[in-house]
Amino acid sequence: MQLLDGKQASSYYRAKILEKIEQLKKTGAPPPRLAAFLIGDNKASAMYVRMKEKACSESGIATRTHILDGQTPESEIIELIKKENADPETAGILVQLPLPKHYDEKKILSFIDPAKDADCFLPQNIGHMFLGDETTVIPCTPLGVMKLLKYYKISVASKEVCIIGRSNIVGKPLAYLMLKENATVTVCHSKTLNLKDVARRADILVAAIGRANMIDASYIKPGAVVVDVGINRIETPDKKQLTCGDCDFDSASKAASWITPVPGGVGPMTIAMLLYNTLYNYVLIKKIDIKMDIEP
Ligand code: NAD
Repeated sequence: MQLLDGKQASSYYRAKILEKIEQLKKTGAPPPRLAAFLIGDNKASAMYVRMKEKACSESGIATRTHILDGQTPESEIIELIKKENADPETAGILVQLPLPKHYDEKKILSFIDPAKDADCFLPQNIGHMFLGDETTVIPCTPLGVMKLLKYYKISVASKEVCIIGRSNIVGKPLAYLMLKENATVTVCHSKTLNLKDVARRADILVAAIGRANMIDASYIKPGAVVVDVGINRIETPDKKQLTCGDCDFDSASKAASWITPVPGGVGPMTIAMLLYNTLYNYVLIKKIDIKMDIEP
């Protein structure tokens, strides 16, 4: 078994992104900015936003984080989004989800200028992506999975790919990206019958479920590549908080040829792709002539 090491792959991609930012500086353009919205007191969201801020600052991308309490009126949030839309240096706008339940998530997101959508959450951008339009960003996590496989020279073409999970931010766009690269894709979900049998057909199995340690060796064809997107917090018997994936790593790694660890697999790739998307938007908005190829 070999590790699909997301820390190693993401540092490669982040170095490439840094090179592009250096090129950008030479054109005299100010650095692009990521504007993040952290609303309410979700601890995991606060941690993700901090990680994104740190990654931006290490890559020469400016950040402005709007930390707002959970009672902030929707109209105030929308006004701030509009200000970021109008700011020429803001190239990526990110509203960290989930929002506290009383907010209308769709409505708030709809005020983001599609040209500044850092996550490809907006229907316009998702639509463009599904039509194969090269001028739009791609959701960070699925893009990160594809780039991770590319880094390790694992081709998906003509392979049987099984994705467990059909969310709008992971499963569905990833299925599209896999199809685009000529994989034969099956998308499974909570109502899939005989999940193990379907999963065991896969040369590449992706778990994006949100169920800690659910996928063990019995779901995996011997020698398959396993990508674990899940990030779950569990409490150990001695009351320690632990982060784990959707795969039972010890068991799954006995059947897999390649497998992502959690943490240190898809997570760092997601962050690297957020940097990529912010820069990508900026280059398009400012019509700067920089090639955005970053693959090895
Ligand atoms: P989601 O809750 O929106 O979707 C989960 C999917 O899993 C659904 O389609 C559901 O049908 C399916 N599912 C649930 N139980 C199942 C079961 N028993 N059998 C088969 N399918 C089942 O979740 P999401 O937003 O796609 O996230 C999935 C996981 O990925 C979560 O752990 C999340 O934290 C993680 N995640 C990680 C990153 C990253 O950067 N690594 C990014 C986004 C999400």
